[in-house]
Amino acid sequence: MTINWHQRAVALDLDGRAFMDGARVWAADGRTFSSVSPIDGRVLTDVARCGGQDVDLAVAAARRAVNDGRWSGQSPKARKQVMVRFADLIETHRDELALMETLDMGKPIRYSLAVDVPAAANCIRWYGEAIDKVYDQIAPTSKDALALMTREPIGVVSAIVPWNYPMLMAAWKIGPALAAGNSVILKPSEKSPLTAMRLAELAQMAGLPDGVLNVVPGYGAEAGEPLSLHLDVDCIGFTGSTAIGKRIAENAGKSNLKRAWTELGGKSPFLILKDADIEAATKACANSIFFNQGESCNAPSRLIVDASIKDEVIACLKTLAPSFAPKDPLDPQSIMGAIVDQVQLSRVMGLIAQGQEEGASLVVGGDQVMQETGGYYVNPTIFSGVSSQMCIAREEIFGPVLSIMEAASLDEAVAIANDTDYGLAASVWTKNIDRAITVSRRIRAGTVHVNSYDEDDITVPFGGYKQSGNGRDKSLHALEKYTELKTTWIRIGDGA
Ligand code: NAD
Repeated sequence: MTINWHQRAVALDLDGRAFMDGARVWAADGRTFSSVSPIDGRVLTDVARCGGQDVDLAVAAARRAVNDGRWSGQSPKARKQVMVRFADLIETHRDELALMETLDMGKPIRYSLAVDVPAAANCIRWYGEAIDKVYDQIAPTSKDALALMTREPIGVVSAIVPWNYPMLMAAWKIGPALAAGNSVILKPSEKSPLTAMRLAELAQMAGLPDGVLNVVPGYGAEAGEPLSLHLDVDCIGFTGSTAIGKRIAENAGKSNLKRAWTELGGKSPFLILKDADIEAATKACANSIFFNQGESCNAPSRLIVDASIKDEVIACLKTLAPSFAPKDPLDPQSIMGAIVDQVQLSRVMGLIAQGQEEGASLVVGGDQVMQETGGYYVNPTIFSGVSSQMCIAREEIFGPVLSIMEAASLDEAVAIANDTDYGLAASVWTKNIDRAITVSRRIRAGTVHVNSYDEDDITVPFGGYKQSGNGRDKSLHALEKYTELKTTWIRIGDGA
């Protein structure tokens, strides 16, 4: 039976209160903001507008939990059991969470159901399962001493996350942070706050003690800023823009030198070399740049193509683009939804206009559509004739916009690929394995795909070089961000 998601949306219970010390609460000063759906511009619900006072309360609750060891003091096996139950509950509530995410953020319901919810559950379960299988170490010192190298929870962790994959970005932080035994204050984006509080309720149902996971929705300047400046927060796991990432690092330095891990923006290159499988390459590129309305940090937004095959590549992409035209995100057939809000829509349309003013050729799209819905929709857009100086080659647009740049040689293709402040991801398409490896090595990016783009697995680290940030989410490496490394020297006598 086909589900009518519009009917379900009407019946959905939305609660915009924060989650603090195990309870749903409004902001201390009673202020709220509206959560608006980008699908139709409708107000979904009022949300607690947390500020400094609420942050203080959340940090105090988290610190109490750290101090009495109600979570950090539990055995890894006990923590695992709670986290696995938490993941199970996310799956049990799949339809509710997916609908909430789509209404709040505008992504197609088919992807909220098939990608966001299962990936968030998988992440929580994976860190739960992992935590009773990681061992500490003993250093190879001389035999009159033992030097133990142990990992301890860092304490109070603040997770500040963006709106493009609200639940999944939250899971990438709270999964390893909670598994390692920390207490967490999660600050979701003001553009998509709703699933974060629901996740905290599910964690509580799974047996997570009160105070261990707190959620403070609110604006960056009002709720995020006090977290990054707080003297009793030990670590920040931040995902968001490079501009705010720099501010987080600055605030960490200005306050208590809290550990500041940043996962930031990208302007990822997608290189199609002259011996590539053009059909496969263009399909992969279109699928990735238009996925999530182009609102993905690792979206391959710069296509760098060998001049000899440029026309064929453009023709293929022109044919593919219309199939990504936006549709009602609650229609299960939709594969492109709404841009998250009016501000982001204006940014995307402004950059499209600037691209045209700077002389790039519009191959397809460039227009806002479906205005009659009251929502924010942009057609898949492709520019050719883009040069490295143009704003559409330099700035992260975070919308369904692809910039095609041509290179006369392999060296020029690599030079264009690296001519960016960012270094999050890249892709190289060639049938020559030696060339694939050589080019991959020359590209300064945290992830390079060869003849592919969207491989993804929780076992694999994800993060950037250069101004794409300094941390790695996912994999066992992420546990390092949320733990301190302690050395304990033990002198050994002669045993007599
Ligand atoms: P953003 O930087 O505007 O906001 C991110 C979060 O920071 C939000 O919760 C926001 O409220 C908060 N914030 C804003 N100002 C703050 C301040 N002064 N102090 C503390 N917190 C503050 O980013 P966004 O628009 O929400 O998200 C899009 C960005 O996220 C893009 O640049 C994208 O590339 C990036 N991103 C990166 C990754 C990655 O893994 N590298 C993943 C997803 C998104």
